[in-house]
Amino acid sequence: MATIKAIEARTVHQIQSGQVIVDLCSVVKELVENSVDAGATNIEVRFKNQGLDLIEVQDNGAGISPENYETLALKHYTSKLSTYEDLTSLQTFGFRGEALSSLCALSKFSVTTCLASDAPKGSKLEFETSGKLRGTAVVAAQKGTTMTIEGLFNNLPVRRRELERNIKKEWNRVIGVLNQYACILTGVKFSVSQQPNKGKKIVLFSTKGNNTTRENIVNVFGAKTLTVLIPLELELELEPTSGPSQHRNTRGDEDSTKEVKIKGHVSRPAHGEGRQTPDRQMFFVNGRPCGLPQFAKAFNEVYKSYNSSQSPFIFADIQLDTHMYDVNVSPDKRTILLHDQSRLLDNLRESLIALFEAQDYSVPQSQL
Ligand code: ADP
Ligand code: MG
Repeated sequence: MATIKAIEARTVHQIQSGQVIVDLCSVVKELVENSVDAGATNIEVRFKNQGLDLIEVQDNGAGISPENYETLALKHYTSKLSTYEDLTSLQTFGFRGEALSSLCALSKFSVTTCLASDAPKGSKLEFETSGKLRGTAVVAAQKGTTMTIEGLFNNLPVRRRELERNIKKEWNRVIGVLNQYACILTGVKFSVSQQPNKGKKIVLFSTKGNNTTRENIVNVFGAKTLTVLIPLELELELEPTSGPSQHRNTRGDEDSTKEVKIKGHVSRPAHGEGRQTPDRQMFFVNGRPCGLPQFAKAFNEVYKSYNSSQSPFIFADIQLDTHMYDVNVSPDKRTILLHDQSRLLDNLRESLIALFEAQDYSVPQSQL
């Protein structure tokens, strides 16, 4: 029988990195979230050849101080979380300290960064695939950070081929996710550009640092979208859990009722106002973009009982205490586990029916 031995560190790093950065979408998501966590009010996302050649995210956030250069891209090094308990009151997008280290393993990765006090003198940092700092150079820069990814998955040939083969689908998902960030981030100027293989750079969409998600939606999807939207302001109540599972919320008081708010915008179920495509269905948990298939299903089903021929535009931010969900389900942080989800969904259906019933033009399909 062959001897059992430990996998070499370099190989472990590559295996794990492929779980954090699973596709083009994860790269974009991790970089944008880092910029938001750094307090940026201006975020520019740039692609060359739909990300196959280059993905770059530039922000005007806090920048990275020189004493953190060495540890910046090391695995499980983070400035955002230090104990497991911190996870239940997480205020940042990032917490695993894995994104940058994974990007080093899976692409040619470099960083240009500058603190406000050092502008216009910044540093360009380059890294080994292990995440170890290879070298720094002084460059001209403004306050903030630019992360550059070239040749994503070049060292994972199967995944690279898959990426190239599915680029159209991947690209649509990337745009969908970027639409989500652009719409949810208020007070942030957000822009996305793409330069095709042969051709000039085109700005695909941008927001203007608006104060409301409504204005962001206008910037991203056009003013016409607003004519079909009604505000979504639902308050759902979950019964308190009893017994030993009862816990304290982030304010530190004992939980009595758990309140969940769903805020955003949804199409009126009136007919003939233009079909909305499914990528205009956006879900968030406390401002964190995420796919919530069960919530999407509930929204669509209720909507369809009023208007079976169209799909709704949905922008729904589920706001709840950080104790009531878990984002640490998978390394790519895409799955969110919500406490008592089925009760929440029943409650949501009832509230949506009440909302649509209050619209006097929405005659239930069954009565037509
Ligand atoms: P995490 O976000 O989970 O902490 P990352 O690997 O994404 O892990 O980032 C590691 C650290 O690098 C972060 O904790 C943060 O301190 C720093 N960092 C990453 N991106 C930026 C950025 N755009 N601006 C400033 N600091 C950043
Ligand atoms: Mg991060």
